[in-house]
Amino acid sequence: MKKIVLLGATGSIGQTTLELVRRNPEKFQIVGASAHAHFPELEKIASEFGIKYLLDTREPFSAKEFLKKGEPDIVLNAVSGFAGLKFSLATIEADLPLALANKESLVAGGELLMQLAREKDIDILPVDSEHSAIFQCLQGEGNFEKIILTCSGGPFYGRKKEELKNISVDQALAHPQWSMGAKISVDSATLANKCLEVFEAMHLFRAKGEQIEIVIHPQAIVHSMVQFPDSSIKAQLSPPTMELPISCALQFPQRTKTGCPVQDFSDLNLSFTTPDRETFRTLKLLDTCTQEMANFPIVFNAANEVAVAEFLAGNIPFLDIFDLLERVIGETQKEAVDSIEKIFDIDARARKMAQKYFS
Ligand code: NDP
Ligand code: MG
Repeated sequence: MKKIVLLGATGSIGQTTLELVRRNPEKFQIVGASAHAHFPELEKIASEFGIKYLLDTREPFSAKEFLKKGEPDIVLNAVSGFAGLKFSLATIEADLPLALANKESLVAGGELLMQLAREKDIDILPVDSEHSAIFQCLQGEGNFEKIILTCSGGPFYGRKKEELKNISVDQALAHPQWSMGAKISVDSATLANKCLEVFEAMHLFRAKGEQIEIVIHPQAIVHSMVQFPDSSIKAQLSPPTMELPISCALQFPQRTKTGCPVQDFSDLNLSFTTPDRETFRTLKLLDTCTQEMANFPIVFNAANEVAVAEFLAGNIPFLDIFDLLERVIGETQKEAVDSIEKIFDIDARARKMAQKYFS
């Protein structure tokens, strides 16, 4: 029986995790959970799952103290956005293994988070489907040459810039393969999500930017691949459901049946192609950021969070997300990131820079 603290229980990953637990009550038990704006819903969840410790993250709290309460075996961080970083840090500081969905933790705090985890010998188990795939491909391996990060292309795959002028929020949220939270759905539409995933992979797997190739794979069956020095390539396949990477992270290093769907090969066509960098200009900014690193991923993430929130609120058109990111990255000077305080400071200043765009 794995005892889990589920942070962000009311979100998309949180709900998928609860479904997995509902189906496998003999394997998983939620001992603690958090919610933010939907805290009243968490109380209902808690009565169904018998969760003892609840955290309302709108109130002041100590994440480290909370995490220790139910004596969990593992913490699943499914909080969205930069707000997730403090929970990832607290998990490692509390000497607990971290199943990590919150990619922004690694994007903004990857250097320090990974260093702390290595020093304390704490496992960070990726939940993001691509990183789970890479992690699975790397088991039992030594050096790798290249990571091939697959990308479904999002809802606007194949469209050109002119066709993206009048995109509505609903259109941006309608992902063809995945059902996800609003922020990551918009990020999948701009491919900013793939940029965040490149930073995430660089930290998790100690890869250089040039070792990561983004490949468009609309069916989202191959969740990523790893190429080794002898030119062999390993891939991980499954239907597009987050249940499998969640199950994999929570059970690692074991693999037991948890009722995840199995891939049917009877009528399956898989295709791969290169991304359109002219339409999805986030990928050009990614190159600048991976060359510079340091504060650039933090700035990219902060400006993107501001832009997506404004788009979701109906305040800016879809294409302005690209413009805003270009402007903020264009104005960014390289700065060393040598402390947690510095990460929060860079994030706050980048948000201000992005907000200037609206004044
Ligand atoms: P959702 O927006 O659906 O859920 C976010 C969760 O975080 C909710 O429980 C929300 O609580 C909570 N939350 C929001 N703001 C705060 C805050 N300031 N402090 C603490 N908790 C907060 O997001 P997703 O489930 O889609 O994504 C979660 C993370 O997983 C993201 O980092 C995303 O990139 C990553 N991810 C998601 C995938 C997916 O399929 N959805 C796939 C791969 C990665 P409340 O609802 O109560 O406000
Ligand atoms: Mg992903």
